Order: sequence, then C-alpha cells, then structure tokens
Amino acid sequence: MKIAVLSRNRRLYSTRRLIEAGAARGHDMHVIDHLRCYMNIASHKPAVHYKGKALEDFDAVIPRIGASVTFYGTAVLRQFEMTGVFPLNESVAISRSRDKLRSLQLLSRRGIGMPVTGFAHSPDDTDDLLALVGGAPVVIKLIEGTQGVGVVLAETQQAAESVIDAFRGLNANFLVQEFIGEARGSDIRAFVIGNKVVAAMRRQAKEGEFRSNLHRGGSATVVKLTPEERSTAVRSARIMGLNVAGVDMLRSNHGPVVMEVNSSPGLEGIEAATGKDIADLIVRFIENHGRFGKTRTKGSG
Ligand code: ADP
Ligand code: MG
Repeated sequence: MKIAVLSRNRRLYSTRRLIEAGAARGHDMHVIDHLRCYMNIASHKPAVHYKGKALEDFDAVIPRIGASVTFYGTAVLRQFEMTGVFPLNESVAISRSRDKLRSLQLLSRRGIGMPVTGFAHSPDDTDDLLALVGGAPVVIKLIEGTQGVGVVLAETQQAAESVIDAFRGLNANFLVQEFIGEARGSDIRAFVIGNKVVAAMRRQAKEGEFRSNLHRGGSATVVKLTPEERSTAVRSARIMGLNVAGVDMLRSNHGPVVMEVNSSPGLEGIEAATGKDIADLIVRFIENHGRFGKTRTKGSG
C-alpha cells in the first residue's frame, strides 16, 4: 500500500517507527508535512498539493497532528478523506478528542466513569462551581492543554479561586475537576487499536508532582489491566470514533475514571515500557481495515 504519515518532522520517534514498520511490511511509506500541504477546496476533483504537485494514489494516511496545529492539520486530513484515502483516525474524531470538555460530555452521555467535572464561564459562580465538584482539592485544566501544561492542582478553596480568576482573566476555557488523590500521582495509559487494548502502562509522577505525564518527568512501567479497565478504554475509543487511541485513566475508589482520550498517542513511552512493537500493529490494522473510499464521515459532521 502507499501510506502517508502526516507529521511535521520525520525524526520524531513515532514517525520514524511508523515509517520503519510500514517499510518492513513492504509498503511505500511517505512523510508529509501537513503544514506544507495546500488545496483547492472549490474543485470538483478534491486533491491535496505538496511541493508543487498533487499527491496521488495514496491508500491510507496516518495523522500525527500536533495539538498546536489541530485546525490546519485536520483540514488537510479532511481533504485526504474527501479524495477517498483511508485515515487511521478520522478528522472529525481527532477534533472531538482535542476538546477535553466535548470529549467528556460525549463519554458521560454513554456512562463512562470520569472524575466529577464542572465547567463555567461567567465570573460570579466560582463558589457554586467548586461546590459542584465537591470543593477543594480540585484540578483545574485548560480545555485544550496537552502534556500536562495548563493542569493545576489547587489544594485549598482559596488557591482554586485564584487560579479560576486568573484563567478567567485570560479568557481561557477551562474545567474544574474532582482531584483523585487515591491515584497517588499515577495514571494508566491504555493503547487501543481497533477493538483491543494492545498495550498498557502505568505512569508515575516524579516526586512532588501530581501529573504523571512522561513529558513532566513521569516514569512508566508495564501494567496489567482489569477487565473493567480494558472495556472502559475500548468503549471510550469507540465513542470518540478513534481507531487508534491512548486512553488515560485514573484508578479511583469507584473504579477506572477517564481523563482524556488521545488521538495521536506517542509510541516511545509505550514501546519502551512494554517492549511491544506497536508501530507494526498499527500498520497491520491499516492492512486489514484500510480500504479506499471507506471513510465513515468523509470529513462531515
Ligand atoms: P494533559 O492533556 O495535559 O495530559 P490530563 O488531563 O491528562 O492533561 O492531566 C495530566 C495529568 O495530571 C494526568 O496524567 C494525571 O496524572 C493528572 N491528573 C489529571 N486530572 C486529574 C484528577 N482529576 N485527579 C488526579 N490527577 C489528575
Ligand atoms: Mg494526559
């Protein structure tokens, strides 16, 4: 198959591994920088242009779109979808998952466990908002943050009020969440491909930190998931419409609670922690499911 990896940098670990794994299975692999793609959307024959010519004959595209360029990246992916190219994850599902509030609303509607979460905009209801999620300590998060940036633990009511006032002053969208203290700075990343959890790791925050993100100095070890955790992860990915997802959960006193569903989960941490060849599994998924013209949404909806 002719497969494009939409990535800004071919040296990134995940990009490199996907190219390697595809080539090892005999595929024609290309790295395409989505920010350098351009397109004529008024044309009757949709196409994506790159470095002076139209990209042609691709069977599948693997989006690795960074959070800072979601808008343009998903537009490029949508254009690929309109031409019939199979996307590993669809543009609509990626947009959905990038918005934490939208994702949690979709998941809660389907009964997925999550930390009690509040959301507000106007400046006069901070007290009630905090009461709604059970009062301090609370976690306050920017809606579109990633890698732990914009995620704050407020241990007292007063700290929570100051952080909320500060975020409001910046006109930033945020949510307020029950702090799951019993997780003790660790969370679970379940790597889902299709209808299966293919690998899972437990990430532990470094000393004095509650965020377990590997980018914040967390460390990862392999973990065995409970059946409930597995089904929560698989259902969450399916609700978001993602074929491949990194589902982040906390082990709370009342079972697994989902914090977020990542549409471009990194391969480095999970491959190192579990010793599994995740890139190969992704390529095999595309071989089995990637059919030209079979995109579910074709960028609509
Ligand atoms: P990001 O998108 O920046 O990774 P997350 O929502 O995943 O944001 O939060 C980052 C980390 O902070 C999580 O991996 C987890 O360790 C910790 N965390 C987030 N929310 C909570 C919570 N409600 N209770 C306890 N820890 C949390
Ligand atoms: Mg996270």
